[in-house]
Amino acid sequence: MLWLSKIALRALKCLTQPFQNDSLVGLLRDCLALTYNAMNYGEEMHITNRKGMKMFYQSLRTVGLPSCYKAGVITRACAILKSREKSKKRGVETFHPRPIRPMVCIISGFFVTAMGRLFIPLKRDKYVDVQLNHHVLETLQGKELRSLTITSVSLSICYSEEIESMPIKTVYGVDRNEKNLTFGNTDGVVQIGMSKAVKIRQTTREIVGSFKRNDTRLRKKIASKYWKRASHRTDQMLHAATNLIVDNAAKNGAAITLEDLKDIRKMFQKANRQGTDYRFRLNTWPYGKAGRMLEYKSAWKGVTTIQLTKSETRGSSSVHHACGEKLHKPEKGDALHRRMLWCQACRVWMDRDVNAAIVLSKRGLARFASSLPRPEGRSQRTIAGEEGPAGEAMKGNPMETAILRVDASKLGLVRSRVPDRTLPSCGLHC
Ligand SMILES: [Zn+2]
Repeated sequence: MLWLSKIALRALKCLTQPFQNDSLVGLLRDCLALTYNAMNYGEEMHITNRKGMKMFYQSLRTVGLPSCYKAGVITRACAILKSREKSKKRGVETFHPRPIRPMVCIISGFFVTAMGRLFIPLKRDKYVDVQLNHHVLETLQGKELRSLTITSVSLSICYSEEIESMPIKTVYGVDRNEKNLTFGNTDGVVQIGMSKAVKIRQTTREIVGSFKRNDTRLRKKIASKYWKRASHRTDQMLHAATNLIVDNAAKNGAAITLEDLKDIRKMFQKANRQGTDYRFRLNTWPYGKAGRMLEYKSAWKGVTTIQLTKSETRGSSSVHHACGEKLHKPEKGDALHRRMLWCQACRVWMDRDVNAAIVLSKRGLARFASSLPRPEGRSQRTIAGEEGPAGEAMKGNPMETAILRVDASKLGLVRSRVPDRTLPSCGLHC
């Protein structure tokens, strides 16, 4: 099976160069003051979008700043107002009602790079020029510049490249769990153990909880250092895991299917009467970060990502991938079948993460099947059947249950239990 996707993917990345110079201090100060003004205006008029700020933009006519900064300031003010509104709805108090970090973001076209230097506009025909370092210059070679973010200590350039998407031969489903990342399809499934990341967060929580010093300000400061360190460590693991998934997908010409986990935090709220530790574990797992990493890394390799909708995601971890029957949880205290599910129709125990990854891959595949031209008078499922295992298994439509699975031992996969009908080898090699 082979689909040739003609769409070019736009891959985005940011590059930062340290920069500390007095020449931009005045500009940043003016921008921050304008941001406060924009926020005051937005709060007064109950506006949180850029379109509504038209009058405010027009009132800035007398301000001697290039228009790009005015637009950048309004964008930032709107973003802050929107997030404040969200916090208010959630009942979370905001410690700093106004932004305190001076920064501004301008779009390309207003700043110029030439002869290895970056020209930042200050006034009409007046620029500050900055020598770009070797690494930045080399990376930006042949790339399209998108935007420039100026802070008091750095310059961050966002760039993009049009990458031709790779031909898609198969589809992988990626299931994001608390203790592992699982990806694959009916031909093979790889599980990447992430339980060390869970342990790091738990240990950090214990350390921070043991602080005894009777000074909240200091306690917070030290705690933030510990959490920063913890997130650096878990980010390393996430990068390694997502690199492995994207490399594998690129090697085998696979598209990556991601489930919609937007509202997953709602499942672990205080009102749901789950234990504090359990809620902490599941609420601190970086599902979103893993998803974003997969998306941008795939874009740079030309691997297509399919984002399933909420309705397409529903039931992905509770339905048997082979027969479509609802799976049953093991009884309480059944240590032998932990994180496994029982299919009454096929009479087989299934690893729940492996099953979810395969179900997701099939749902991603169904997207392609449904977009293929359909001969008259024939159902979509018939086409899917002809093209391969595209359609998801439905009740009364049994399919082969053999699953090939391989362990990503380098990254610390660690599960010795194998489902009953699992074959020992597969085509995926890491
Ligand atoms: Zn079944």
